[in-house]
Amino acid sequence: ETAINRIAAGEVVERPASAVKELVENALDAGASRISIDVADGGKTLIRVTDDGCGIAAEDLPLALSRHATSKIDGSDLLNIHTFGFRGEALPSLGAVGRLTITSRIAGAEAAQIRVAGGRIEPVKPAALRTGTVVELRDLFFATPARLKFMRTDRAEAQAISDMVKRLAMAEPSVSFLLRDVSGGGEGRVSFRSDGETGDLFDALHARLARVLGRDFAENALRIDATREGIRLFGYAALPTYSRGAAVAQYLFVNGRPVRDKMLTGALRAAYFDFLSRDRHPAAALFIDCPPVLVDVNVHPAKSEVRFRDPGVARGLIVSSLRHALAEAGH
Ligand code: ADP
Ligand code: MG
Repeated sequence: ETAINRIAAGEVVERPASAVKELVENALDAGASRISIDVADGGKTLIRVTDDGCGIAAEDLPLALSRHATSKIDGSDLLNIHTFGFRGEALPSLGAVGRLTITSRIAGAEAAQIRVAGGRIEPVKPAALRTGTVVELRDLFFATPARLKFMRTDRAEAQAISDMVKRLAMAEPSVSFLLRDVSGGGEGRVSFRSDGETGDLFDALHARLARVLGRDFAENALRIDATREGIRLFGYAALPTYSRGAAVAQYLFVNGRPVRDKMLTGALRAAYFDFLSRDRHPAAALFIDCPPVLVDVNVHPAKSEVRFRDPGVARGLIVSSLRHALAEAGH
C-alpha cells in the first residue's frame, strides 16, 4: 500500500503549498475557527497546521491514515460521489512521502497521537492537547528522492504557501488565519495574519479582501451578486481605474474552494475587454456557488481545475454581471 500511496502522493501533493492546502481544508472541514500554519524552509522541512476544530477520536486516527477512508461521504452523497473522487487521499499520501504526526482531541476525551513516516504507521499513543488537531509534516518527499528535486528554492516555495494561505483566507473570511515562518526555530516571523471577520457575507468578505489584497483594492471594488440557472456569482471586482501594474490579482473560488481555471479567467478578461492593456489586468475576487452536480472540482486533485457541466452559463454570468456592474459605476 505504501507504493500506491507514494504514487497517489505525486498526484495529490505536488509541492509544499499543496500539502498546506490539503491540511488547511481538513481544518476548515472540521469546523475550525482559528487555524495557524507554521512552516520552515519553504515547507520542505516542516509544515504544521493547528486548528480548533472538532478533532479526531483516538480510535479513528489509524483510519484517517488509510486510503480512501473519509468521514465526509455518507449514503446521502452517493448522487454526488464523482465530486469526491479524491476523498481520503491526502493524509495517507502525506504519510507515505514525509514524516507525519497527527495529534488530536475531541471534546470530552483524552488527546491521542499517531505517527507515520515513509508509510510505516506507528501505534496510537496518549498525548496532551486542547480540543482540535495538530498535523505536523516533516521532511516532505524524504521517502521519494526523485520528487525532492522538483521543489524550488525555499523562497519560492514559501511564496507559494503564502499565496495559497491567502486564497484560503479569502474563501473563509470568518476564520482566523496565522501563517508563520519558523525557519531557524523560535517564535518565528509572522508572514500573514488575519483575525476572523464579522458581519454579513459581503461585509466580512470586504474586510478580508482589504486585509489580503489591500485597502486600495477594497475601496475600488464593486460588489457583484447575481444568480442564473442555479449558479450564483458573488464577490468584488475592481474598477478598471484600479491598477496593480503588471501584477495579477484574480482570485476565483468554486463552492468555497480556490480554483484556477482558464475558462473563468477568460470570462473575466472578456468582461473587462474594453479596459485592458498590457499592464492592466482585471482584479477580482469572485465566488461561484452551485449545486455539486453542475461542477466537477476534482478533475485533478492538486491542480484546482474545475469542469462545469455547462461552461457557457458560468461564463455568461461572469461577463454579463461584471459588465453590468461596470456600466452602473459609469464605465
Ligand atoms: P478527506 O479530507 O478527503 O476525508 P483526508 O486524507 O484529508 O481525506 O483526511 C482523512 C480523514 O481524517 C478526514 O475524513 C477526517 O475525518 C480526518 N481529519 C483529517 N484532518 C482533520 C482535522 N484537522 N480535524 C478533524 N478531522 C480531520
Ligand atoms: Mg482532506
